[in-house]
Amino acid sequence: PTDLNALADEYLRLSYHGLRAKDKNFNAELVTDFDPALPKVSVIPQDVGRVLLNLFNNAFQATQEQAKRSGDLYKPRVEVTTAQTASGVEIRVKDNGHGIPGDIRDKIFQPFFTTKPTGEGTGLGLSLSYDIVVKGHGGKLELAGEEGTTFRIILPAQS
Ligand code: ADP
Ligand code: MG
Repeated sequence: PTDLNALADEYLRLSYHGLRAKDKNFNAELVTDFDPALPKVSVIPQDVGRVLLNLFNNAFQATQEQAKRSGDLYKPRVEVTTAQTASGVEIRVKDNGHGIPGDIRDKIFQPFFTTKPTGEGTGLGLSLSYDIVVKGHGGKLELAGEEGTTFRIILPAQS
């Protein structure tokens, strides 16, 4: 049984400090809203951790890219929420970065699909994440239709 709030917190720190260590200009507001009554779930923590790290890295990177494109008024922001829903335990990762254009939305889960410069992206993060969540844990990984980008992971509650 894994406490997803603690796991999310751990991997958020890893992601934030990892990106910050590589880029002195890295800057983003991080907002968390963790459900204190979140039930534990039966998962392989290292695997779900990899999924979280990839989603967090993608989210932060999208805000840093957006910061380069827009002016000083832009405030990079990543929001991570956990909640219990009817279909299971949900982790939501929302960023106000450049978003995902409609014409590539059906490609992002394909292995090796990336829009990042060579050396910065392998295009394997989301495809691996999909395999871990859906095939490995019987959950769901969805791109939600909001401004910026929101990914939703749903893991079945422990039976
Ligand atoms: P990589 O990060 O190595 O490019 P991923 O599989 O993690 O590979 O993501 C694939 C592509 O999906 C990214 O290159 C990017 O175009 C898009 N993407 C993923 N997450 C986001 C996000 N939060 N905001 C904008 N684009 C994203
Ligand atoms: Mg990635």
